[in-house]
Amino acid sequence: MSLDSHIELVSDGGYAVETGGDDCPLEVRGLTVAYGEKPAVFSVDARFPSASMTAIVGPNGAGKSTFLKGALGIVPRLAGEVRFYGQPLKEARRDVAYVPQRASVDWDFPARVIDVVMMGLYREVGLFRFAGSRHRARAMDCLERVGMQDFADRQIGQLSGGQQQRVFLARALAQDAELYLLDEPFAGVDAATEHAIVSVLKGLKAAGKTVVCVHHDLSTVTAYFDRAMLINMRKQSEGPIAEAFTSETLQATYGGRLAESQIAELRLGSC
Ligand code: ADP
Ligand code: MG
Repeated sequence: MSLDSHIELVSDGGYAVETGGDDCPLEVRGLTVAYGEKPAVFSVDARFPSASMTAIVGPNGAGKSTFLKGALGIVPRLAGEVRFYGQPLKEARRDVAYVPQRASVDWDFPARVIDVVMMGLYREVGLFRFAGSRHRARAMDCLERVGMQDFADRQIGQLSGGQQQRVFLARALAQDAELYLLDEPFAGVDAATEHAIVSVLKGLKAAGKTVVCVHHDLSTVTAYFDRAMLINMRKQSEGPIAEAFTSETLQATYGGRLAESQIAELRLGSC
């Protein structure tokens, strides 16, 4: 396709992916989300490149979850444009997996672990009317990747928090997406579970997938992630860890809530 027609398509409201020119998994421009009068996320621009692993970092109530939900259209956007692989979400939905914050899920719903994971396959099997042994085997494989294969027939509500978190990660894996958006996947899990989840996520990145995690533990940002986006309603920084996760950007994001001594303990990118 010629450059001219590329420009025409883009200026026509078409998206660059149609010309093969835009493979950015997630690009957000001017995202603003408000609950009532008060904006929770204000005019955020961000790009999450392919095969990267980004931590979204900021204090409680900074708008981290709202940023993901706004990007996904789970909460309405007041302003902003969001493109997944250059397209609106509805065109790219199959390639995008989302694991919400654990507190926001109704854990009492009656479903077995294997059924929860097979929900990740629903686009393929159509609400699992035709789910067969091949699909079950794939769901079991995903449970194995998170070390939960022995719990396949348990009720999801009977599992511990960390185990539930791993099952929801297995469901995202079953979807075989390209972009994984996770909201605090390590919240309330034990060290072994955290280790298991990190290695699954690093494996995804090594396989060329893109991972974006809301992450609240500042002490592990540099060990787990290669990029960071710091946010406190407004974006404070974004980019490779060495540029985005520094004492300056942390001060800007947390203000007085983070003492100099705490910042000094972090293994910061450029310091
Ligand atoms: P974070 O994930 O960084 O802790 P959130 O995105 O959950 O922050 O929340 C950002 C702000 O929006 C907070 O002030 C929070 O109280 C508010 N908020 C979040 N969800 C809602 C909601 N459903 N209704 C009203 N206010 C909300
Ligand atoms: Mg949150």
